[in-house]
Amino acid sequence: MGQAEVVIVGGGISGLSLAYFLLKKKPDLDIKIIEAENKAGGKIVSENISSFLCEAGVNGFLNNKPSTIVLANELGIEPLMGSEHSKVRYILIDGQLKKVPEDPLKFFASSLLSVRGKIRMIGEYFIPPLKEDIDESVQSFVSRRVGTEFYEKLIDPMSTGIYAGDPTKMSMKSCFPKVYWLEKKYGGLIKGLIALKKGKKNVETAPKSMLMSFRNGMVELIQSLENKLASKILKNKKVLDITLNNGLYNLYMADGEYLQATKIVLACPAHESANIVKEFDKELSKLLASIPYPPLSVVAFGFKTEQIGFGTGLYGFLVPHREKRKILGCLFDSTIFPNRAPQGYVLLRTMIGGMRSPDLALLPDEKLIETALSELRDILSIKGNPEFIKIFRWQKAIPQYQVGHEEKLRKIDERLKSFPGFYLTGNAYRGVSVNDCIQNSIELADKFLSL
Ligand SMILES: Cc1cc2nc3c(=O)[nH]c(=O)nc-3n(C[C@H](O)[C@H](O)[C@H](O)COP(=O)(O)OP(=O)(O)OC[C@H]3O[C@@H](n4cnc5c(N)ncnc54)[C@H](O)[C@@H]3O)c2cc1C
Repeated sequence: MGQAEVVIVGGGISGLSLAYFLLKKKPDLDIKIIEAENKAGGKIVSENISSFLCEAGVNGFLNNKPSTIVLANELGIEPLMGSEHSKVRYILIDGQLKKVPEDPLKFFASSLLSVRGKIRMIGEYFIPPLKEDIDESVQSFVSRRVGTEFYEKLIDPMSTGIYAGDPTKMSMKSCFPKVYWLEKKYGGLIKGLIALKKGKKNVETAPKSMLMSFRNGMVELIQSLENKLASKILKNKKVLDITLNNGLYNLYMADGEYLQATKIVLACPAHESANIVKEFDKELSKLLASIPYPPLSVVAFGFKTEQIGFGTGLYGFLVPHREKRKILGCLFDSTIFPNRAPQGYVLLRTMIGGMRSPDLALLPDEKLIETALSELRDILSIKGNPEFIKIFRWQKAIPQYQVGHEEKLRKIDERLKSFPGFYLTGNAYRGVSVNDCIQNSIELADKFLSL
């Protein structure tokens, strides 16, 4: 039996960054991080295979929020900015790749939307806001305000690109809160954007958000945190169950050992937390288990640059649902970060599966490769075979914030009030990105130590 003042379950970016910020505030805090696998990092896994640097899961973070950059600076590691080409993004429309214009003026000149679609988009200005504060789906909110064409061609693929979700089920309020609140606060999206721009009249406008990572991949962030936390991380220890006796939490592990703690934080995926609290609090367990995590597969291909007929100077492309294709999109990893592939080669990562086509993610290896490759051949005019192929499978990938998510969180918080010193964190609740996970850790560390 071991003991610690604080036990964090889960050594992904949420758990590790929380431990880091707690120790920064209170260096003598007796803290342990319990990780089920033989390595920390969770969905952050960077692998060097045949001279290709592949991200199995997380590809990077945007510089439009500060948390990851601030943490990296504190850890003394230098973020790597995506190349200029990474501003070049495409969407598949009627079987053809169309460039997404970088600024709104070019947008109106582009052929991305029909004239009717563009007029409907401008008409957003005159659409009255909904009076009630209802939890509306992304599809319903965007179609109502900006029109069906805008939704189908732009927001549907964007929702898939971030969440691998189904926008007819995703909650606008929980997935895109800033846009949701523009309607509530200013009466509409165009009105809101104008007001925000006016407010910033004398302020230098922020540069467009860019994808960032690290020279050796996202794992560099995990390795630096591990170096700081070294002896506090216990690996190969899966927590199965918890109990609370006389103000102390007991955590029971798969290897038969157990730990006691005054405070615990479950920083693992919600479906895992649901299993851990199954006997402890059935209601809490049910709420956590109701957050869906559809499967997603990432198929990485290495080609010679000249094999890609379409060219390689792009970030990647997304595929709207209306195109009825079998892939969600594809990222040109080695265009974004040139050191991801050897000279003369390109590394493409294709996403398959998600909420709307979970079965595709679960296809056997050969079928999965064949499916991804035939779509890429058609869309990018690829000649010949790839020189490198690697599949990364995520049985339970990205948590879905569906309509009702906010109410679910309220009920979860209500249950937690009965258990002093018991916390939940991770990407299942208030933000799915690495930036959000780190920001949540900063806030939880503050709250934690003030109690
Ligand atoms: C394919 C894919 C691509 C993504 N790309 C991006 C991206 O480019 N940018 C971005 O910002 N976000 C991306 N995300 C989202 C990303 O997952 C999160 O931002 C973040 O990495 C989640 O971190 P976390 O620590 O909350 O959870 P996780 O990374 O899931 O970590 C949870 C940890 O808990 C451990 N654990 C689970 N059960 C137990 C148990 N019973 N006992 C002990 N330990 C346990 C796990 O082993 C794991 O290490 C992507 C996600 C996926 C799946």
